[in-house]
Amino acid sequence: MMSLAEDSISRVPLAQRDPEVAAALKAEQKRQQDNLIMIASENLVSRAVLEAQGSVLTNKYAEGYPGARYYGGCSYVDRAEELARTRALQIFGAEHVNVQPHSGTSANMAVYLALLKPGDRLLGMDLSHGGHLTHGSKVNISGRYYDAYSYGVDRGSNLIDLEQVRARALEVRPKLVIAGASSYPRQIDFAGFKDLAAEVGAIFMVDMAHTAGLIAAGVHPSPVGLADIITATTHKTFRGPRGGLILSRKDYASCIDKAVFPGLQGGPLMHVIAAKAVAFKEAQQPEFVTYQEKVLSNAKSLAAALTELGFDLVTGGTDTHLVLVDLRRKKISGNEAERLFEEVQITANKNIIPYDPKGANDPSGIRLGTPTLTSRGMGSEEMVKIAAIIGAAIDNRNDRLFLDQLKKEVNLLTSEFPVY
Ligand SMILES: *Cc1c(COP(=O)(O)O)cnc(C)c1O
Repeated sequence: MMSLAEDSISRVPLAQRDPEVAAALKAEQKRQQDNLIMIASENLVSRAVLEAQGSVLTNKYAEGYPGARYYGGCSYVDRAEELARTRALQIFGAEHVNVQPHSGTSANMAVYLALLKPGDRLLGMDLSHGGHLTHGSKVNISGRYYDAYSYGVDRGSNLIDLEQVRARALEVRPKLVIAGASSYPRQIDFAGFKDLAAEVGAIFMVDMAHTAGLIAAGVHPSPVGLADIITATTHKTFRGPRGGLILSRKDYASCIDKAVFPGLQGGPLMHVIAAKAVAFKEAQQPEFVTYQEKVLSNAKSLAAALTELGFDLVTGGTDTHLVLVDLRRKKISGNEAERLFEEVQITANKNIIPYDPKGANDPSGIRLGTPTLTSRGMGSEEMVKIAAIIGAAIDNRNDRLFLDQLKKEVNLLTSEFPVY
């Protein structure tokens, strides 16, 4: 049997070792360059983050936590995880952090494992009103192993009405109240949630998966100091590697850490944790605040331009990085719009809107976000252009030649703003 070194497997570049995968990677990079990516949960990481994530730390097993591992040889990965932890605590001003969750979903599962027993009640936002699968959906473990209830948004305003949430909490008497969403374009009143959770004696959790970057930069209200537990992803507005984290008060530290490992996960992804540390350092730079301010102002410009073009926006606008468009007035379904946008090289996702008369398979909305476009350096002027392209595409959806013209306009824009 030849050793790795003898076989020189370790030295052969990807393009030579595996041309098929290399081709897929190259094509994906080109897709990211050539399309206007408006998926609100996506972003572009820096070269430094890519480098850390594609590093030799992927070779290391490190079950446990820094200074208390079940494997030898952990001194350098310990350093990386300590850097990640220290920086995360500085950024959010929290008492405790766990940076090991593999994803936002794993972070949420770890919290439930730490705080709930199977059959305990939780109260989260309805998936069809903008909540997340992991907040108690029947198709997710959170709705199968726990007794899950939901609250929605107000039928008139499409806003979360705390009085309605409070009434629901008094009726359900949950052990855990969850605030946080995937397609809610407005700020959430964390202080109000804290009060209603306290009134029913529930633990209060915030899932800031979408808004973590905005919160880190201080351009969105922070739940730290209000929520008992906070979960986040590091790859959405935060612009780091794909992964999760959990912030908590000190008194929850030990049960959270035990739930992540050995409760739910095995070896941590040390290469991803190193990349998280790099992203946290980037989030501590003044440019990060400028970036997040631009994410918000771009979303506002996009919302204003779409409104001007006769689009209905759920809640009438945004104070986050995303807008949720109600397409009914434009007589086009979410599926049709998603497909049409793809023809002109705009990538977005169809999305259910609150009280959607159609189902989740072909909903009435489309969700648009600005983090990726802003990472490319685009600003308000480009948002107005993109809104115009979206409007023109929908108005001329059956005109092949016109759509080709729009695609050329998109090509011009994307070539002006290189990705890497
Ligand atoms: C994206 C998201 C998650 C899950 O994140 P994954 O990393 O995809 O598992 C959890 N909660 C909310 C509110 C989200 O938007």
